[in-house]
Amino acid sequence: MEQNNTNTNMFDGYENLVLVRYGELHLKGLNRPFFERKLVQNIHASLDGIQHRVTRENGRIYVTQISDSDISHAIERLKHVFGLHSVSVAISVKKDWDSIVSACEYVMENELKQDSNKTFKVFAKRADKKFHLNSEHICREMGHQMLVKFPSLKVDVVNPQIKLSIEIREKAYIYANEIPCAGGLPVGTSGRAMLLLSGGIDSPVAGYMLAKRGVELSAIHYFSHPYTSERAKEKVIELTGLLSAYAGEIRLHIVPFTDIQLAIYQNCPEKETTVLMRRLMMQIAERVAQKDNALALITGEALGQVASQTLESLCVTDDAVSMPVFRPLIGMDKTEITDIARKINTFETSILPYEDCCTVFVPKHPVTKPDVKKLRESEAMFDFSQMIDKAIENTELIIKNNYGGVCR
Ligand code: ATP
Ligand code: MG
Repeated sequence: MEQNNTNTNMFDGYENLVLVRYGELHLKGLNRPFFERKLVQNIHASLDGIQHRVTRENGRIYVTQISDSDISHAIERLKHVFGLHSVSVAISVKKDWDSIVSACEYVMENELKQDSNKTFKVFAKRADKKFHLNSEHICREMGHQMLVKFPSLKVDVVNPQIKLSIEIREKAYIYANEIPCAGGLPVGTSGRAMLLLSGGIDSPVAGYMLAKRGVELSAIHYFSHPYTSERAKEKVIELTGLLSAYAGEIRLHIVPFTDIQLAIYQNCPEKETTVLMRRLMMQIAERVAQKDNALALITGEALGQVASQTLESLCVTDDAVSMPVFRPLIGMDKTEITDIARKINTFETSILPYEDCCTVFVPKHPVTKPDVKKLRESEAMFDFSQMIDKAIENTELIIKNNYGGVCR
């Protein structure tokens, strides 16, 4: 859905390069080099398999040496890299006026291929203050040159169809497109967290939201064979791949959960089974998170969505662990969550009709206002420790690689 819909307007005869703008990094003061390095690493990783070079110069990142046939593909991948605000496909020329005019004519000709009656405005940035014209002069002069060369053009300074942009830096960069990217912070700049990943709509969105703030993801999935099928597990692996298009490498832990679920149902009060199951999920997630050096847990819960997501239930669930539990969807309606799931391309996979371990053994009348003390007592009715150790020992690790989902 997000794929291959970018008009990258490549310029034949000139070398195309991608000019990368990054969003919030300017806020990061002395940490800025660290953020920039991470971003460059993630750009490299996202372009794995595509020939390219990444350079960093004076607060800008450039991706160069991409072949014309790869450029649309490269842009599609870059659109998913958190920390990128926008990119432009540009051409670079020497900083002499005639070369800049020719390049602008070239870019403009490209823009007018389908329809020559368009409006335009020139934007100029003169980072190199030694250049003989200031930004205002560049705009005025180039505007005039364009009107002479292309008589059907009209100026519109408020809402131009073509934004002809000229940046004077170590070279002159010319472009007429700006492609929005994912925003956020580079993955790997905010530590690691463990995502409890079901096959549903919500949890992939929750992972996306934390990755957007720079968090590296591990994920954990509880699997209750034979009550849940191999296809349900495959679905979660596929969702992890789709999420990795944004989050880079994800370590997915698949935990056999059948014995624990059966023990809960055989030994604990029926109406508390769902909340107890969630407490045990959290405990296992915390143990695996520690092994992965993850500092927090993430779930796709939203307040009041189902019985196990009342405020009381969430408090009882949190009580089972000491790590912080992040619930980025807590205040969202299902429709809002679904919109994001569609945008990030996980929705169609999430709605495949395979059961989750939460949907087997569901009590008829689950408690909606569980009490922490009471639930601790119910959990103590059975010693789960050996079963937890065994489940962790038998966990399967699958690593989904960098930006491997939608883009490959
Ligand atoms: P989702 O759409 O993410 O499945 P949900 O609205 O269906 O969420 P629940 O099934 O109650 O709600 O699950 C709440 C949260 O618990 C999920 O968002 C997820 O973080 C976690 N979770 C549920 N089932 C599993 C599972 N089998 N493995 C790992 N985590 C799970
Ligand atoms: Mg679910």
